[in-house]
Amino acid sequence: MNYGRIYNFSAGPATMPEPVLEEIRDEMMNYRGSGMCVMEMSHRSKVYQQIIDEAEQDLRDLMGIPDNYKVLFIQGGATLQFAMIPMNLMKNGVACYYETGAWSKKAIAEAKKYGEVVVLGSSKDRNYSYIPAENTADIPDNADYVYICENETIHGTTWQKLPDTKGKVLVSDQSSMFLSKPCNVSDYGLIYAGVQKNVGPAGMVVVIIREDLIRDDLPATVPTYMDYKIHADNGSMYNTPNCWAIYCCGKVFKYLKKIGGLEAMDKINQEKAKVMYDFLDSSKLFKGTVDKEVRSLMNIPFVTGDKDLDAKVVAYTKECGFENLKGHKSVGGLRASTYNAMPKEGVEALVECLKKFEAENA
Ligand SMILES: *Cc1c(COP(=O)(O)O)cnc(C)c1O
Repeated sequence: MNYGRIYNFSAGPATMPEPVLEEIRDEMMNYRGSGMCVMEMSHRSKVYQQIIDEAEQDLRDLMGIPDNYKVLFIQGGATLQFAMIPMNLMKNGVACYYETGAWSKKAIAEAKKYGEVVVLGSSKDRNYSYIPAENTADIPDNADYVYICENETIHGTTWQKLPDTKGKVLVSDQSSMFLSKPCNVSDYGLIYAGVQKNVGPAGMVVVIIREDLIRDDLPATVPTYMDYKIHADNGSMYNTPNCWAIYCCGKVFKYLKKIGGLEAMDKINQEKAKVMYDFLDSSKLFKGTVDKEVRSLMNIPFVTGDKDLDAKVVAYTKECGFENLKGHKSVGGLRASTYNAMPKEGVEALVECLKKFEAENA
């Protein structure tokens, strides 16, 4: 059916799979004979309990999450985790961070409020266009964890290989790459992702945490809501959760299972990004801003090298019927976010539009 939808290249909230939106539409007025919309349901009802249980189980199936990890659905977005992680995980009061862009920078600033932060590497000198070299030498023996932002949404870099943490717990912000490819959960102590990038509606974060990292000896000053144990002990329903986001994400999990899981998704994402990168590598007008070997499959920043021309391209893409291609102000130019739900046809159509612009402006 033609709804007049456009290709939406937003970095987040972002495009969602159409079959999922259609299912949500079909269940809007009366969810499976309950006589209500999921928005109107008690989170303590049987029917809602089934929704949250299935969402968790489907996510566990998709990622192969081992039994000794808890899956938590928490409000406050990824940003709340910048504080919650050091509050809960800093036992010795020292943690290591890699500074790879805007999001890890914010996480570092927040962690400094709770303890000592050792920055193991930074790519700030070249505007975060690369991933800094692995550094194990500076990891203190008493470090509580090593933190990375696995995909920097604004700058468009991805860790292609996880850093050696010298046996310390690895914590990863996967917000803009969550479920984009297979993930070996046991490599991490904690994975978290704000879901509005690659999964569902805004207002929720998924936290996957190894059970032994959940403490019962937190300082009394830690707010109840900021304690992972409270969320774990109450099945993510200590208070009213983001019922709607959990419902929508659950549908996306089922959809991903149906299309063949994360391996199938990865293959599609690689093909899609290749269309874009092949174009950028052959274009005389446009160029990618990131070192080739660490380019993101999810967020693709590119520039012409001329600010006015960049603005002209953004306007041109709008005319072609695409939205949200303006790059973040810290990088400039354009950014195409090619999340799971962006079809390959969307990227191909964008490339055609950019080719036309290039020909007209040669
Ligand atoms: C968007 C984003 C965040 C912040 O997410 P909120 O849900 O808005 O708090 C954090 N980290 C990364 C990598 C992001 O892309």
